Amino acid sequence: MSTPNLRTKALSDVLGRQPKHVEAPSSRISDYYGINVFNEGAMRMFLTEDAYRAVRSAIDRGERIDRRLADQVASGMKEWAASKGATHYTHWFQPLNGSSAEKHDAFFEPLGDGRSIERFDGGMLVQQEPDASSFPSGGIRNTFEARGYTAWDPGSPAFLIHQTLCIPTIFVSYTGEALDYKTPLLRSIRALDEAATAVCRYFDKNVQKVISTLGWEQEYFLIDESFYYARPDIMMAGRALFGHGPARGQQLEDHYFGSIPERSQAYMRDFETEALKLGIPVKTRHNEVAPNQFECAPVYEEMNLAVDHNMLLMDVMEKVARKHDMRVLFHEKPYAGVNGSGKHNNWSLATDTGVNLLRPAKTPKENIQFLAFFVSTIAAVHAHGDLLRASIASANNDHRLGANEAPPAIISVFIGKYLTDLLNELEKSIKASMSPASKTELKLDIGRIPQVMLDNTDRNRTSPIAFTGNKFEFRAVGSSANCAAAMTVLNTVVASQLKAFKVAADALIAKGVKKDEAILRTIRDLIVRSKAVRFEGNGYGEEWKAEAAKRGLPNIVDTPRALDAWSGKGAKELFRNMEVLTEKELKARHEIELHSYTLKVQIESRVCADMATNHVLPTAVHYQNRLIQNVRGLRDVLGPEAGEKAARTQLELILGISEHMEKLRTLSVAMTEARKKANVLTDAREKAIAYCDTVKPFLDRIRYHSNKLELLVDDELWPLPKMRELLFTR
Ligand code: ADP
Ligand code: MG
Repeated sequence: MSTPNLRTKALSDVLGRQPKHVEAPSSRISDYYGINVFNEGAMRMFLTEDAYRAVRSAIDRGERIDRRLADQVASGMKEWAASKGATHYTHWFQPLNGSSAEKHDAFFEPLGDGRSIERFDGGMLVQQEPDASSFPSGGIRNTFEARGYTAWDPGSPAFLIHQTLCIPTIFVSYTGEALDYKTPLLRSIRALDEAATAVCRYFDKNVQKVISTLGWEQEYFLIDESFYYARPDIMMAGRALFGHGPARGQQLEDHYFGSIPERSQAYMRDFETEALKLGIPVKTRHNEVAPNQFECAPVYEEMNLAVDHNMLLMDVMEKVARKHDMRVLFHEKPYAGVNGSGKHNNWSLATDTGVNLLRPAKTPKENIQFLAFFVSTIAAVHAHGDLLRASIASANNDHRLGANEAPPAIISVFIGKYLTDLLNELEKSIKASMSPASKTELKLDIGRIPQVMLDNTDRNRTSPIAFTGNKFEFRAVGSSANCAAAMTVLNTVVASQLKAFKVAADALIAKGVKKDEAILRTIRDLIVRSKAVRFEGNGYGEEWKAEAAKRGLPNIVDTPRALDAWSGKGAKELFRNMEVLTEKELKARHEIELHSYTLKVQIESRVCADMATNHVLPTAVHYQNRLIQNVRGLRDVLGPEAGEKAARTQLELILGISEHMEKLRTLSVAMTEARKKANVLTDAREKAIAYCDTVKPFLDRIRYHSNKLELLVDDELWPLPKMRELLFTR
């Protein structure tokens, strides 16, 4: 008789679960969309005219709000929040540890005479000093200036979670250095606005502002709570470190766009309702390629808001999952052998005159503008592929990039056949001097770019960056990442390229070249210069690695080395010139990311050794003892010779188990030794590299022997939910 283990208990829990049906507040989403947001409507109702205007001009033009008006805004916000039952407020920010942070304070303030008032003024709205010593600062915040402070970001509206008014803020050190994701993102949005607006003015003098737009697609896995608790690796590291691949994986691809399992569907409906109340415009939901993997995507928004919404949604998804006895896994690669999760970042630029600058249009003039932005983006990716690679680097994402199911670590751009042909054509036909006739012909050709090119462009799923008809899709971003990291870099490199575009075209104009021709020639230059980054083939293929090397495109497969890009001369100059990150801030980020890498691998390594020693080995011993007992019994009953013969299989198993146990144990000990050696290193980069090169490889080797044991040991005894159960039980 075996005693039921956590796995057996979990299995019976899961099989007994029913979907939890949750009613939406109304069948019409418009009835509750944004009810928990201090949005336009709420502002109109709760703010004085002056206060409303001040907030609007802060949002639209980045103007400062003076203290008197801030008091009025705070008062209106508090009234609104209180009318919805809020008792507390918090500054909500995105520190560099990857999650969002909040510190709740009550509106309530005792007066000291037994009475109390509800207080929330402009000062409390605009600035707060959270006790920030536990957030990573990469050495920026040294002890005597230990405090960082949070400052209100009026560009992202306040919202309510439970009874708390949450105010989106930036998080900076006392001396003004960015300690979060939002600060550099906002700076990059401004840099891109300036550079893009200047280029737009060649075509339309009415353009005052260009905004970056972002539509993310969030992939995730669901796991039942009981399974989660029975898997220390998933609990502590977010991914399964052990587990033999199931007989059937995702080969049949029948999960993709198949019907969504009922429990998962109830969960989705529930979190979407909460998201919609928070004004997050979630719209599509579907299954992903792997079993129990799903995706959720909103309508795109202005980038700062879209980033906040993604962080907020991940938080909501985690909270709601608990109500459904589930956990949501945002890890980029929870299970070996099936697809990992990404977060495609769909990126574009829109003018305040309502034009999507990456959408081909009807007239030659508009399409020259399209080409200017299109080609500048490609050139920016070409010039700074290393920074884009660094922006998506993480211990988690390393398992995914280049793993034959996700974009490779080589940064290239896919644009589809039509546009490839067009660029090749333009390269030939734009000349230093053109006859009026050839110029007219060229413009006619440019005028004919089809407005809808989805069919041409969305086929290739193997490219890290693809043009998908009216936007670029950065597909290499990891599912658990804050989009801001990748978007800050993309904005900055494109801003820098657009600035260079303007300088180059202006220089030609100054030499007497006509404006149109100057622009076309600048476009041509960029087409030629950035050709190497365009790749239309299979990004998963081995041939591409060789071809990319020939083209001089880097292929950096691990995070510690990918992060070297942050300390390069190019990075320092670029971020300084675009006023997005100072050298000090860049260095701090580099340190933090290296440290975070080390921590993640360290945790995985510890959990792995624990599981090998405390779960797998005892189970193997237990089963081996049973076999030994059986062999003894057979000898007793049949006599030594016949018993020996009858026990052949058991003896083989006994030896096999010993062999793998021995390996499992020696490898675990060796891994711990490697960790000890790495731990004494003081340089963050050296340490991360030591973890990457000398600790991490043990994880797969140990997994191998554990998986072998899983196949040898009685299924009833095995304590860890198996892969087939994690993936297929629902
Ligand atoms: P799919 O990629 O699933 O075929 P779409 O191409 O329509 O679907 O959209 C995918 C994502 O791209 C959505 O999140 C959508 O909001 C976003 N998106 C669409 N247009 C833009 C744009 N102009 N800027 C940024 N994101 C966009
Ligand atoms: Mg897409």
